[in-house]
Amino acid sequence: MADTRYLDWPFLDERHRVLARSLDAWATEHIAHAHGLDVDAECRALVRSLGAAGWLHHAVGGIEYGGASDALDTRALCLIRETLARHSGLADFAFAMQGLGSGAISLAGTGDQKQRYLARVAQGEAIAAFALSEPDAGSDVAAMACAGRIDGDHVVIDGEKTWISNGGIADFYVVFVRTGEAPGARGISALVVDADTPGFEIAERIEVIAPHPLARLRCTNCRVPLTQRVGAAGEGFKVAMRTLDVFRTSVAAAALGFARRALDEALARATRRRMFNQVLADFQLTQAKLAQMATTIDSAALLVYRAAWMRDRGHSVTREAAMAKMVATEGAQKVIDDAVQIFGGLGVVSEVPVERLYREIRSLRIYEGATEVQQLIIARDLLKEFGAAGVK
Ligand SMILES: Cc1cc2nc3c(=O)[nH]c(=O)nc-3n(C[C@H](O)[C@H](O)[C@H](O)COP(=O)(O)OP(=O)(O)OC[C@H]3O[C@@H](n4cnc5c(N)ncnc54)[C@H](O)[C@@H]3O)c2cc1C
Repeated sequence: MADTRYLDWPFLDERHRVLARSLDAWATEHIAHAHGLDVDAECRALVRSLGAAGWLHHAVGGIEYGGASDALDTRALCLIRETLARHSGLADFAFAMQGLGSGAISLAGTGDQKQRYLARVAQGEAIAAFALSEPDAGSDVAAMACAGRIDGDHVVIDGEKTWISNGGIADFYVVFVRTGEAPGARGISALVVDADTPGFEIAERIEVIAPHPLARLRCTNCRVPLTQRVGAAGEGFKVAMRTLDVFRTSVAAAALGFARRALDEALARATRRRMFNQVLADFQLTQAKLAQMATTIDSAALLVYRAAWMRDRGHSVTREAAMAKMVATEGAQKVIDDAVQIFGGLGVVSEVPVERLYREIRSLRIYEGATEVQQLIIARDLLKEFGAAGVK
C-alpha cells in the first residue's frame, strides 16, 4: 500500500482502516493487474474468489441475508472499490456489479427475494446485473420503452436493454420496465429476471475499450411472476435512483483507485528514468505534474469520503455524490494521462499498467450518469436550495 495517510481522516472508522489494509494485503497476494484473454471466465473466477474470501459480504445489505452489516456501508463499498481498482480494473468491476446488480434487492426487496438472491451474491455463487439503460434511453432514463404488461399474477416483458454489465454471464438481472401506472418516471417498475426465464435472451455481446462482460438484452413475451417485483408498482424509478445514490459514490472511489495506481506508477518511473544526466523526477516540470496529480487525487478523495460518510449518517447525498463522481472521474482521467506522458513511449504499449488505466477510466465518465448529467444534478440542487431560501 502506498500513501495510506488518508485512512486516518475522520470520515472513516477503525473498522474501515482494518478493512482497507486487509483487502490490500489479500489483493496483493491474489489479484494480478494483468488479465487473461477470456474476460467471462476471468470475471466468474474473480466473483468466486471475492466471495470465498468474504469481500462480497460488503456488497449486500442485511446480516441475516449474508451482508456484513444491516445497511449497505457506503464507506466500506468505496474503500473496497478504491483498493481493488488500484490492483485490477476487472476485480473492481466484479465486486461493483455484485453490489449494483443486487442493490435494488438490498434496498427495497422483500424478505423472500433477499433470502433467495442476496446470500448467493454474497458468497459469489450468483452473478448479478442491473438493467436500466436502453438504446433510446440512456441519460434520459425516464424515456424508457421496455414494456411490462400485467397479466394475472405475472408481468409480461417486451423490449430491449443495452450496455448491461455482466450481460451474458449474470444469473439474474434487475430489469426496469414501463408498467404505466403514471406517465414518465412514475410508471416504471423493477423486476428480478432470472437468466433462464423463457423469452429472455442476450441479443448481442458488446466489446469495449476496457474489456468486461457487456451485452444488449432482449425480452420477448417474457413472463415474470409479480412476486419478483422489487418495491411497489410504479416505484421502479425511485428504486433505481436510490441504488445509484449509493453506487455513484463508489464509481468515484474506483476512479480514485485508478488515479492512485497511476501516480504510484508515475513516481516509480520518474525516479528511475535517467535522461540529461539526471532522473526525470529531478526536473521541475515533472515535479509540477506530480504535485498536480497528488492534489487532484486528494481533492477527489475528500469528496468521495465526505459523500460516503454523509450517506452512512442517513443524509441525502444526491448533490455530494454527483460532485464526487464528477471530480474523481474527470480528475482521474487527467492524472492517468499525465502518468502516460511521464512514461513516454512505454506508456502506450499494450497492457503496460498506465495504458490499461488509460482505457479503464474512460467509461466511468459516462456510466451511472455522464459528467454533464452530474453537472445538471448539482446545479438543480443549488438552484432549488437558493429558491427555497428566498434569497433575492
Ligand atoms: C462500459 C459501460 C457499462 C455500462 N453498464 C451499464 C449497466 O450495467 N446497466 C445499465 O443500465 N447501463 C449501463 N451503462 C449505460 C450508461 O449508464 C449509459 O451509457 C449512460 O447513461 C449514457 O447514456 P447513452 O450512452 O445513451 O448516452 P446519451 O444519453 O446519448 O448521452 C451522450 C452524451 O450526451 C451528453 N449529455 C447527456 N445529457 C446531457 C445534457 N442534459 N446536456 C448536455 N449534454 C448531455 C453526455 O456527454 C453524454 O455522454 C453502461 C455504459 C457503459 C459505457
